Amino acid sequence: MEIYVPDIYAQDIYKIKYDVLKSRGIKYLIFDLDNTLVSIKEKAPNEEIKELFKKLKKMGFKAFIASNSIKTRVKPFHDELNVNYIYSAKKPHINKVNELIVDNKMGLDEVAIIGDSMMDDIVCGNKIGITTVLVDQISRLEYPFARIKRIKEHRVQKKLRDNDLFVKGRYYE
Ligand SMILES: [Mg+2]
Repeated sequence: MEIYVPDIYAQDIYKIKYDVLKSRGIKYLIFDLDNTLVSIKEKAPNEEIKELFKKLKKMGFKAFIASNSIKTRVKPFHDELNVNYIYSAKKPHINKVNELIVDNKMGLDEVAIIGDSMMDDIVCGNKIGITTVLVDQISRLEYPFARIKRIKEHRVQKKLRDNDLFVKGRYYE
């Protein structure tokens, strides 16, 4: 069950304590897109995200986007936030995210993956062995395939709760 448990759990990307991540040696942040940065309705980054990414850059982080969505969905975020990205990442499969890590010469102990899906983002990160950060989903609105995964996630979260491994809404660093 540990494969589902994130190292850090925050309400959203703005509540993550990036200074804590930095003090732990994290230099690279790999963000999920849908329901992590924006809802699936938003086609481009809003001002709040642009500000956050500016702040992260100032703090010395290098940010990336790794999305399971197709290129046309992800590219506007690359263009406006000026970050490298991968699309159709097939998380929780590790190949593409791993490639991103290797290509950019990141050390595993220097990378954090940040996303709203335990089944995709957290499992992917835990399999690779990088720091995993779970955030609550921005909206209940989801793509059909994501909704199916969310049902599985609810089952997993019930088991985790029963074993006191993870409780939704109980945030931690
Ligand atoms: Mg997501």
